[in-house]
Amino acid sequence: MRKIALLLTLFAPLAAAQDFATSFKSTVVTDGIYMLDGEDGFGGGNVGLLTGDEYVVLIDDAMAPTVPALIEAATELAGRPVDFVINTHVHGDHVGGNEFVAKDGAIIVAHDNIRKRMSDDPELNTGPGALPVLTFSDAVTFHVNDREALVVHIEEAHTDGDAAILFRGDNVIFAGDVMFNGLFPYIDLDNGGSVAGYIAGQKKLIEMADDDTTIVPGHGPLAKKTDLERNLAVLIDSRDRVKALVDKGMSEEDIVVANPLALYHDDYNWGFISTERMTRTLIRSLTSKQVEP
Ligand SMILES: [Zn+2]
Repeated sequence: MRKIALLLTLFAPLAAAQDFATSFKSTVVTDGIYMLDGEDGFGGGNVGLLTGDEYVVLIDDAMAPTVPALIEAATELAGRPVDFVINTHVHGDHVGGNEFVAKDGAIIVAHDNIRKRMSDDPELNTGPGALPVLTFSDAVTFHVNDREALVVHIEEAHTDGDAAILFRGDNVIFAGDVMFNGLFPYIDLDNGGSVAGYIAGQKKLIEMADDDTTIVPGHGPLAKKTDLERNLAVLIDSRDRVKALVDKGMSEEDIVVANPLALYHDDYNWGFISTERMTRTLIRSLTSKQVEP
């Protein structure tokens, strides 16, 4: 469970350089649905907001230091407090605001495994309201504000508790961290994620989408299906490039030196998942006991 603390620690250098956000900006995804992210600093993962006459729903709630600014932005757009939060996965930059939003009356909804992992982690099980009170195993559907939102579990992808949210009538998908748009993805092997599952999860999202779908990634700008297809192609090719060297019997250090992902470095390397870290994750995943299809 120390990995989650580590995640925040690793994000800290990014945050130190630009500090945590004290205000959030909104992007209209479609009428009544917004993407919120930090305006003047690191705000955590992208947040979704559904406004309407009946209920206000947040998708993820960023981090403890940024949640006051997030709540302010959400309340201003929605005109009243949040009723539900859907957590897309267990990481602290997506669930860190739970306790605070719950204090204002919101019901936290998440996959079973998120509650399990948060319960065991003092960094995330921070107080009353932090843990999800409604959990699901495969899927759950929200029928709110004349809209249908299907919350579907993506197995063993970024973690073992990922959810994607499909607003059917609006043709919008919130991918959570099963998509890092234009960045090497973080695949958290220590929290039940896997490279094979991540690839399968992205394929599942592509099947749910058409050419007009707007995809909100967990990190990075709004996307279309073609962006997700490109991200998936890069991941599959990266896996294959690393696998070719693993199959030759090269050691992890020799593979890192050979730098098989060099061609993607300029576009996909970033502060949290460097080209080297992506390479090591792929090696670890390929050489673990996990069965790769
Ligand atoms: Zn994450």
